[in-house]
Amino acid sequence: MKKIKILGGGIAGLTAAINLKQAGIEVEVHERKGFCGKPSRDFQFLENWIFEADSIDTLKNLNIQTDFYIKPFYSMEYISPSLKRCLKQSSQPVMYLLKRGPEEGALDHSLQKQAADAGIPIIFKSSLKVDDVDIIATGKKEPTIIATGVTFPFDHPDKVIVLFDDRFSHKMYTYLTINDQVGQIVILNPPHIKDHLARMERSIKRFEEILTAAITTITHRFAATGSFYFLKNARIDGRYYVGEAAGFQDCLTGFGMMYAFKSGYHAAQSIINNDDYNHRWQVDMLKPMEISIRNRYLFEKLSNDGYEKYVNMLENPNPVIVKLLGGADLQSLLKRLYNYSPSYLLRPILFWRKLAPLYTFLLSLPGRLFS
Ligand SMILES: Cc1cc2nc3c(=O)[nH]c(=O)nc-3n(C[C@H](O)[C@H](O)[C@H](O)COP(=O)(O)OP(=O)(O)OC[C@H]3O[C@@H](n4cnc5c(N)ncnc54)[C@H](O)[C@@H]3O)c2cc1C
Repeated sequence: MKKIKILGGGIAGLTAAINLKQAGIEVEVHERKGFCGKPSRDFQFLENWIFEADSIDTLKNLNIQTDFYIKPFYSMEYISPSLKRCLKQSSQPVMYLLKRGPEEGALDHSLQKQAADAGIPIIFKSSLKVDDVDIIATGKKEPTIIATGVTFPFDHPDKVIVLFDDRFSHKMYTYLTINDQVGQIVILNPPHIKDHLARMERSIKRFEEILTAAITTITHRFAATGSFYFLKNARIDGRYYVGEAAGFQDCLTGFGMMYAFKSGYHAAQSIINNDDYNHRWQVDMLKPMEISIRNRYLFEKLSNDGYEKYVNMLENPNPVIVKLLGGADLQSLLKRLYNYSPSYLLRPILFWRKLAPLYTFLLSLPGRLFS
């Protein structure tokens, strides 16, 4: 078989490369930077509820070694605009925290090493034309979301807080993680929101109020973009689109890492077995993506009054609903919500394949009008 050329050395591209090489297929990765993956040096969460299997077991099944920093988290606190709080616990890891970036211990550094150890040539500072490659793994396209973050030293027990408030993150969520005495706050906003710095300063003050402690030293600031859109056909002109380059993302939360791993693996398997890539990824990933776009549709109807009710409902759930959802354990609750959420009722009217182009266009409209 001819050598497979991969454009982009992020999660999806390197997962594809590692699997192809393991099957004895020659492969070459072209990475435009001097290192692979995200430059952001932030903490990200590998969620552990969208898919049935545990995420670490899944990575092993996708032939990815989990020798990077990865730490289970068993709880999450939700906070409403008026500061109502709701702490939810889980008996199983609800997510795994990992580091992104080129530093030792980070996921991207480990994937680059795994690829190099397998003898995969990575050509840095190289970007070929799309026509000259087989797998497109270049990450985000048109940004539909802008993330702004800060990290700071913080002597406090580990925790994750999700804050719903449109004054900080418009129709998204603001989150704080504290891990090993390092704090991180991230706000997420659509491109038409321009006052990121002011929003970040306000959210820092908000978290000082929540944690009743001052955040005195900011050690790192970062900004990054992500895209939510849909490419129902991820095999175009004979090329395989993987990861965020194919629009594979959870549209409610912006979690795309597991989709990037899985789609890289599916593209490789499809090349190895000479079968239908679209069929492979759709069987595995289409249902949660459909659910995520319907959940986003519902979430965008909420605004601050709605978030208030939502956190209240989480804190004081109706016992009948809790029973129907299989108990109050956070991970099983999220799993149920992802499989049987009220958005299921929207299925007939929100047939995403038809609405996806319209939805994407509407999301990008403010950016187009005001840029
Ligand atoms: C601030 C932020 C926080 C996030 N938090 C989470 C989280 O907590 N959990 C989660 O699951 N997801 C999260 N995500 C999303 C997640 O990071 C992405 O979905 C995931 O990294 C996508 O992987 P990928 O391999 O498709 O792309 P990337 O990881 O972006 O890799 C793409 C690679 O291609 C290279 N490249 C790009 N263009 C070219 C080119 N023309 N030629 C050569 N190389 C090129 C890039 O340099 C990069 O190395 C977050 C995203 C952001 C921005």
